[in-house]
Amino acid sequence: MNAEKIYEQIQNAKLKAGRTDKISFVAVSKTRTVDEMKEAEKFSCIDFFGENRVQEAETKRASYGASRLQWRLIGHLQANKARKAAELFDTIDSIDTPELATRLNRIAGELGKVIPVLIEVNTSGEINKSGVSPENFSQLLDSVIQQENLKLEGLMTVGPLTNNESEIRRAFASLRELEENARVKSGLSLPVLSMGMSDDFELAILEGSTMVRIGTLLFGPRDYSNKN
Ligand SMILES: *Cc1c(COP(=O)(O)O)cnc(C)c1O
Repeated sequence: MNAEKIYEQIQNAKLKAGRTDKISFVAVSKTRTVDEMKEAEKFSCIDFFGENRVQEAETKRASYGASRLQWRLIGHLQANKARKAAELFDTIDSIDTPELATRLNRIAGELGKVIPVLIEVNTSGEINKSGVSPENFSQLLDSVIQQENLKLEGLMTVGPLTNNESEIRRAFASLRELEENARVKSGLSLPVLSMGMSDDFELAILEGSTMVRIGTLLFGPRDYSNKN
């Protein structure tokens, strides 16, 4: 497992960007076994687990036992799984509609907790990607900041599927700009800018990412037939 090498690449990209702030390292553990996750947890440079399916995370959390790491939901959340997600995850990074925000807020209230969340934005315009469109972002922001049981910590995006570096950087830069505007509008500090995966995390760091989500580079290629 390459955690330390990846961490070094993160530090090098940060240096190149002239930055000294902290960049969180999310180990994207979807499709991975509990044993693989336990091995990842041993690396102190890893800060979080990222899972994208509620059902899979439920099964794994039940057998995992105590974990040093918080678990983040990074995949699309369907309304009918909101309660389960609120019970299982420490943070939910994929808020994409006012309806989901309202529902999750109500559930968090019933559970007596405040859930840290990110708004997911579709910065590439690719139709198969989840996230709110940049056009509808402002309306969603207004809704999320009104929810007293949700704590908005920042934004998340998945970069475009292309090798064109300037196109990738443009998408990441647009998320950073949305976050800067949201900071001014909301008065919140919004410390989290979650962008960058195995293939594009260095570009994301150059554009200001404070949280990278790495799966393949850490654990190897995913095998989706290996159901957990
Ligand atoms: C799978 C996934 C990742 C990790 O992707 P890799 O290319 O394997 O690093 C990051 N973010 C999200 C939202 C994902 O679904």
